[in-house]
Amino acid sequence: MDSKRYLIPLSGLALAACGNVAQEKPNIIYVFPDQFRNQSLGFWNEEEYSGAVKWQADPVHTPNLNAFADEAAVLSRAMSNCPLSSPYRGIFLSGMYPERSGITLNCMALRPESTLNPDAVCISDVFAANGYSCGYIGKLHAETPMKNDPANPGHYVSDRDPEWDAYTPPERRHGFSYWYSYGTFDVHKDPHYWDTEGVRHDPHEYSVKHETDRAIEFLKNENGERKEGAPFFLALAYNPPHSPYESLDDCMEEDYALYRDMGYSELYVRPNADTTLSKAPSARYYFANVTGVDREFGRLLAELERLGLEKNTIVVFTSDHGETMCSQGTLDPKNSIYTESFNVPFLIRYPDRIRHRVDSTLLSAVDIMPTMLALAGLEKAIPESAEGRNLAPVLLENGEECGIPEAVLYIRNMDGEKDADGIVSGFFPAARGIKTDRYTMEIAIDRDKELQSVMIFDDWNDPYQMRNISYQENQELFAGLCDVLREKLEEADDIWYREGILDKLSLNMALLKK
Ligand code: CA
Repeated sequence: MDSKRYLIPLSGLALAACGNVAQEKPNIIYVFPDQFRNQSLGFWNEEEYSGAVKWQADPVHTPNLNAFADEAAVLSRAMSNCPLSSPYRGIFLSGMYPERSGITLNCMALRPESTLNPDAVCISDVFAANGYSCGYIGKLHAETPMKNDPANPGHYVSDRDPEWDAYTPPERRHGFSYWYSYGTFDVHKDPHYWDTEGVRHDPHEYSVKHETDRAIEFLKNENGERKEGAPFFLALAYNPPHSPYESLDDCMEEDYALYRDMGYSELYVRPNADTTLSKAPSARYYFANVTGVDREFGRLLAELERLGLEKNTIVVFTSDHGETMCSQGTLDPKNSIYTESFNVPFLIRYPDRIRHRVDSTLLSAVDIMPTMLALAGLEKAIPESAEGRNLAPVLLENGEECGIPEAVLYIRNMDGEKDADGIVSGFFPAARGIKTDRYTMEIAIDRDKELQSVMIFDDWNDPYQMRNISYQENQELFAGLCDVLREKLEEADDIWYREGILDKLSLNMALLKK
């Protein structure tokens, strides 16, 4: 099926932009907290925004993000193709789906095969090769932990078993010349980091605040954090509002106070939430971390403005995946196609170039790398390996023609075979699915690669995904969605395409081929 085409006439804005060719390359700040769901943005309940979505926002305090939204293009349907920490990070960094980024599963010591392909041409490699100073601050979680602790060579960076955290040596930093990062570690008020030189820091303060301080230092550049006069690309990867979210050890008390006295009927506005789940008290702490992220993001933006860098800096606010938070009766916050897990914030501000609006374009995580490079004028430097689309013409509305996506591919992998020591080899492609303009569909298989389940939701008429449409009783709809899925699987050269898994399923094959 042909992609829809996007073509708009040159607008006054675009003409103004064309007259500004002498402008130096824009800086880019890409902020992505972990597990921050799109529904936890307060502005979705404001008049301008509420009409663009069919659901209610969480009762969160996000004043800085609300103000930022008013200056940004706000994508209502940005989707994390593989809504899990490490696979998303592989997609964002490399512009490739998990099978080619190398990160098919969450990275940890028992999954040695799931690690960022050292040969992948990453977004930061391209920016660095084109004169950018690149900085990475916060959670990386894109590498198998190795025994390369810089303070204790031949050992992991901690003695947890199995090991999750990791140190990234300079040769694996993909063009990032400023480094202040760690693998994965979930103690929000006692974080640690390894800097550019491999020195460990234990600041004993709220990680979001601490990382924002480092980001502000990077902006100020008083100690050579970046190359003076060169454009910069800064990735800022906060861990909150990631779990744990169980006590005041996990968030700032001032933020918790905003939610402390709210009952479940106020905290949980989604009718698909089951507040009898053991996780229910977590919402207060989760929302507290949402507010903590909001405050620090606001502080970063204020500093950007104070330094006079605002005009020529593209700022993105997004997340690796969402958080189900008792919706759909699951305790698993992520790695599912439910909208709370799959749909992420995506706000992008580029003063005078990207017009403020709510935009319903279906954005895949895999589109981010080519789009960001093109927005920086590096369209010709998008690597051949990139698997997504350059959607810069859509964001800029600059009259260039580009195919706009009709669907987003969803991927869920599980561990493959395990040996006697628990070492996982390969991955099992447990489910694939799509999000289209109107529908969400997931097909899951069992370990014999036989059909396990089909879920189809009508997101227009059932935005909380409470009624699974029977595929047996709606075969025409199902066949149409399978056609779209098949096309996306082929486009991604996914294992479901290469092994013909979809077509081998004991579904109504005759109908599927009609
Ligand atoms: Ca994550």
